[in-house]
Amino acid sequence: MAQAKLKTDTKPDSYKNYIGGRWVKPASGGMMENLNPADTRDVVGLFPASTAEDVDAAVNAAVEAFPKWKATPAPKRAEILYKLGQILIERKERFAQDMTREMGKVLKETRGDVQEAIDMTFYTAGEGRRLHGYTTPSELPDKMAMCVRQPIGVSALITPWNFPMAIPSWKMMPALICGNTLVIKPAEDTPLSTINLVKAAEEAGVPPGVINIVMGVGEQAGAPLTAHPGVRLVSFTGSTDTGRIVATKAAQTDKICSLEMGGKNVIMVMEDADLDLAAEGAVWGAFGTSGQRCTAASRIVVHKRVYKKFVEKLTERTKPLRIGNGLNKNVEVGPVINQDAVEKILYYIGVGKDKDGATLHLGGNRLDKGEYRNGYFIEPTIFTDVAPRMRIAQEEIFGPVLSVIPCRDLDEAIEIGNSVKYGLSASIYTRDVNRAFTAMEAMNTGIFYVNSSTIGAEVHLPFGGTKATGNGHREGAMASSLDIFSEWKAIYVDYSGKLQKAQIDEFKIAGS
Ligand code: ADP
Repeated sequence: MAQAKLKTDTKPDSYKNYIGGRWVKPASGGMMENLNPADTRDVVGLFPASTAEDVDAAVNAAVEAFPKWKATPAPKRAEILYKLGQILIERKERFAQDMTREMGKVLKETRGDVQEAIDMTFYTAGEGRRLHGYTTPSELPDKMAMCVRQPIGVSALITPWNFPMAIPSWKMMPALICGNTLVIKPAEDTPLSTINLVKAAEEAGVPPGVINIVMGVGEQAGAPLTAHPGVRLVSFTGSTDTGRIVATKAAQTDKICSLEMGGKNVIMVMEDADLDLAAEGAVWGAFGTSGQRCTAASRIVVHKRVYKKFVEKLTERTKPLRIGNGLNKNVEVGPVINQDAVEKILYYIGVGKDKDGATLHLGGNRLDKGEYRNGYFIEPTIFTDVAPRMRIAQEEIFGPVLSVIPCRDLDEAIEIGNSVKYGLSASIYTRDVNRAFTAMEAMNTGIFYVNSSTIGAEVHLPFGGTKATGNGHREGAMASSLDIFSEWKAIYVDYSGKLQKAQIDEFKIAGS
């Protein structure tokens, strides 16, 4: 098997923040190492460990650039996005390679991640010639009423490491098309993919100061950004715990705040389901991206009549999964992101075995020998005989750990499915249309699939969830992203030439 090329003998590349159209070193001079999670001897690069001073400079640049960008006609802003989309297409392969190297997921998936950014960029560019508002009748004569979307100002985008180009693009493109300027703070583990996106945007002609990138750890670079008085909007994707901190900070200076947080997603397998299809979907949902998607299927609720057979099929498909460095073509499951993730996942495997009392059916170990010795690899792990209230069935593990829970019927499956604090994605495998529709209506989630896994959102549909997954916003689908990144302005034009008073003046209907 071809091994991924290591750069151990060369000096790692050093990267800078992008502020006001210039690539600049962080004020403190501090840098962070970004390591390849499949082989930590491979240093992807050195990235700025920014602090409040850098954040301040970036926000000031964005404040300064705002009036001109706001005044740029939306169709002209869109032309830049079309160019950007084209550049992303040309660089797709290189960006995917960079992403696998810094994040770990396999190439097939990182190509998908870049593709999602391409899709989002073109999709949003089309909006440059729409950005529709509407007109509506006034209750008074000789008066016109309408409303238009207006940009909000400086947007702070705080993004996680699991979709290092797709998620920044979900936020960046709608922010730009609406006429906002922005500062993005990518996750500390995956800054390179966001730099690739920002450099492509620079090349496409986004003017200086419109996009700024500040890298660094959450508390040092993210926190001052959420607190900065120059920022009007914070759009965050990450864990529920951090999201709450961000929302609290944002509220103190009256910022608009959109949060996209955790999930504990469920696949329900009914006794009439195509079990092969369901097992295939379960494996993809649970172990794709090593389970590190907010939409990952971490619970499978299976009708007891097909439970045994389904577990057999699931096991047959999971056992041969090839784990390794995602840059190698035949690898299907890459590493997890870092040492903290390894520890958290192993902790939950311990809880499942020793405290919850579930059956550890498959996997459960860290791989640290041979080709795995320098990486963060964990075996795809299946727990069976899981009860819905066990911690492994309730808490987000964010790793390749799947809980299989037996159920009696659809009603119980729905009850179990809804019994967690999150509400992102759910799915049902059944051939019965009545059951499919019943579950579709009953599941309290933002995303629902029939005869498909819990993952695979498309950019033109709303993405987000209920309960602790979010705070009511949706990304993706144009109308909902525009609602995050623009504010409505209601406009009344009175051409009667006299003072007319809404709710007070009486209008006489002619002839009455
Ligand atoms: P995860 O647990 O998935 O690593 P987090 O929710 O901690 O994710 O991080 C998501 C993003 O939020 C990252 O860019 C991270 O640096 C940032 N972040 C972490 N802590 C804070 C904070 N206190 N304020 C603002 N941003 C933060």
